[in-house]
Amino acid sequence: MNPVRRVAGLLAVLASLSLVSFNGAAQMPPSRPTADLVIQHGHVHTVDPARPVAEAVAIVGDHIAAVGPDQEIAAWIGPETKVIDAHRGCVLPGFNDSHVHFVDGSSDLSQVQLGDVTTREEFSRRVAEYARGLKKGEWVLGDGWDHEKFPGATMPTREWIDSVTPDNPAWLSRYDGHMGLANSAALHLAGVDRNTPDPPGGTIVRDADGNPTGALKDAAAGLVERHIPDPSREQLTRYIRAGLAEARRYGLTSVQDISHAAELRVYQDLLRAGELTVRIYAITPIQQYEAQVRAGITAGFGNDWIRTGALKGFADGSLGSTTALFFEPYNDAPNTRGLFNAMMLPEGHMLSMAQPADAAGLQIAIHAIGDRANHEILEMYDEIVRRNGPGPARGRRWRIEHAQHLRPSDYDLFARLGVIASMQPYHAIDDGRWAEKRIGHQRAESSYAWRSLLDHHVRLAFGTDWPVAPLNPILGLYAAVTRATLDGKHPEGWIPGQKIKLSEAIEAYTLGSAYAEFTDDRKGSLTPGKLADVVILDTDLFTIPPEKIRDAKVVTTIVGGKVVYAAP
Ligand SMILES: [Zn+2]
Repeated sequence: MNPVRRVAGLLAVLASLSLVSFNGAAQMPPSRPTADLVIQHGHVHTVDPARPVAEAVAIVGDHIAAVGPDQEIAAWIGPETKVIDAHRGCVLPGFNDSHVHFVDGSSDLSQVQLGDVTTREEFSRRVAEYARGLKKGEWVLGDGWDHEKFPGATMPTREWIDSVTPDNPAWLSRYDGHMGLANSAALHLAGVDRNTPDPPGGTIVRDADGNPTGALKDAAAGLVERHIPDPSREQLTRYIRAGLAEARRYGLTSVQDISHAAELRVYQDLLRAGELTVRIYAITPIQQYEAQVRAGITAGFGNDWIRTGALKGFADGSLGSTTALFFEPYNDAPNTRGLFNAMMLPEGHMLSMAQPADAAGLQIAIHAIGDRANHEILEMYDEIVRRNGPGPARGRRWRIEHAQHLRPSDYDLFARLGVIASMQPYHAIDDGRWAEKRIGHQRAESSYAWRSLLDHHVRLAFGTDWPVAPLNPILGLYAAVTRATLDGKHPEGWIPGQKIKLSEAIEAYTLGSAYAEFTDDRKGSLTPGKLADVVILDTDLFTIPPEKIRDAKVVTTIVGGKVVYAAP
């Protein structure tokens, strides 16, 4: 039932009950519905302009029944009502991460973790430790390394790990997923040697003698990755359970999963078993669009727990791998402007998938990092309008994932086409350490351009790109508000003119993300009638100095009126 009508119905029942007590049963106290759950004594930041701030929230079933001052909401408390004291911490709509790789992040929780490694010795040690637990021939899989953290930004080579992985192929992804390191066993298995040409859209990194070093960029990664066996459904279920626990802990009540599609079955099984604790919007590969068109699926198909109908494509690579596509060359690699992703080649190929998908009512979300990649996708969207007409009344809600480096002249095109900038604020404080070395100051000024985009009335949706960045949304809020890079070198903010207000960052992480998945009428704000997805923090983020925001912790996560996480 429509949630607003449901609460309205409740109120009608309440009105008729009190009428009965007036007319006939004078000895009975006037009855009123009671809440299943009430949150009191909070700084309730609703993200609802009709009532931006409150103290308490009443929940009936899986919906929000009322939001208001403590005194008023106390009237909803009955003998069966569970009452939570927020101790003046922030009470917010549950976080909605608009861009996660949920299975990759979840499986990483049980693979070699290289995110905090800063030396060759530690790199080898972690791989050795992991490989010891494997059978001969099993793959060593890992993720998270960043050569910018190694002394002299040295690129790792297969020699770093060959001696500790003689009997196991190894594939270790760089944190941004646009490069990986293979050991000699994996290269051998994949048949990659000095005679293998670079595939279109990819680079086999080679040493001075022309031999592969083990590092493979973008499309070249596929040469090795295609030999890694898919996880079984049991493995996948185990991974996803671990990912769900991580999501609960960080107050995530919805995630938009850049999915492989195989996990949809696991999500369904977990939902039936009552174990799904985060709502899923599955964004599947655009190359598979025909299957969804044939099945008659349109954007937002599904229920409140599992929905789909969005397609993800790639326009370019990443800044870290110098494969993000720019109009002008890289400052520190003047021989390249970056690369088109293979999906953009030959010219018109992406359009040949996106246009029929749009005509069938599917949502399009394209990864674009460099200014030229962003521009090409905006132009493509404009072309689709010309070919397919104005589109459905609810809008297409086209997305660009990352929208990282923009030409200021493209802000208006974003706004005119109604394209959502689905962005990951943590990347700014991470890449901000070295981005200017790569693209110079001028291009940096319109990088992660949240202030400019909002000023041009472009909608933001915030997320993390987990496992590329940590899943914790509090770090995203901190990044958006401070732009203080992780190396501590920009305490006042890297490109401080692009900082946004805390309330704007929260909105992008809740209502903005909900808009990006066509659920802003159901989620994204603490509004009576909406789903009761709520997070309670241990602090009031609005009264602490911005640099302290990152220390805030989630104390309670509520999804559909049920407490799914309570801090120990
Ligand atoms: Zn991603």
